[in-house]
Amino acid sequence: MENTIPSLNFHLYEPCNMRCKFCFATFQEVKKTILPKGHLPFKDAENIIHLIGKSELFQKINFAGGEPTLHPHLPKLIEIAKSYNLTTSIVTNGTKLTTDFLEKTKKYLDWIALSIDSLDDETNLKIGRAITGKHVFSQDKYYKIIDKVQKFGFKLKINTVVNALNYQEDFSEFLTNIKPNRWKILQVLEIEGENENSVKPFLIDNTQFESFIKIHSHLENITDLAPETTNQIKGSYIMINPAGQFFDNVDGKYKVSQSINEVGIHHALSEIRTDFEKFVDRKGIYEW
Ligand code: SF4
Repeated sequence: MENTIPSLNFHLYEPCNMRCKFCFATFQEVKKTILPKGHLPFKDAENIIHLIGKSELFQKINFAGGEPTLHPHLPKLIEIAKSYNLTTSIVTNGTKLTTDFLEKTKKYLDWIALSIDSLDDETNLKIGRAITGKHVFSQDKYYKIIDKVQKFGFKLKINTVVNALNYQEDFSEFLTNIKPNRWKILQVLEIEGENENSVKPFLIDNTQFESFIKIHSHLENITDLAPETTNQIKGSYIMINPAGQFFDNVDGKYKVSQSINEVGIHHALSEIRTDFEKFVDRKGIYEW
């Protein structure tokens, strides 16, 4: 398959212990219909990783959620992905980055992407970026988690969703101190069926998003800045949902393929739409 996006996001585990109001990974339709628990049995998830590895279509796999670290077998799935020589990554809210988890994964996991939307407790509380929507992580707590991640030798990415509550916030000092390998800066995104009832107060226009980028453009010297507008996000990802189906977000809602375990990688992939040029345009290819 020519120009397949070489980087894949497996939204392995729908449950999450945070309550971000703009979350576009709630997978309510999947939960209502085919997967009430919000995740596949381990054997089915494992089989998908084998199919991905054997297909040789991808170079990198990112485990996402919900919150993937709540999955009891995440370390094993990362290990299987690494056995196919894939670059491995997780995106996490940081609540379960225990020493035990970091020990178990250090041989097989390359990247940890930590979601941080604000360094202000009040803003995080309003967003819902807090355990059970109530208990936020302080800036000091984020520093401690990052210190641990970096001491273990993982590459660090920070993911920030820019929205109406944080687009004027200045992260410069924090970013200068932690020096992540990459900072992914995402414009908050509305997805029908996922967050349309709660995202509206958080939406920002392109000018507001650009103003956030401008405040931080001087950080180019210390980290790899990767901003993504809503237009760039749509269609530029290959994603698998917790039920093991590819899905795309081209129309601002999720269109899903048949089950990968039932019809195979190539067939399932042919049922979704992806845009390789957009992937390149949003700096999807980097030193991973
Ligand atoms: S931490 Fe991530 S998955 Fe959980 S609610 Fe927030 S955005 Fe959604």
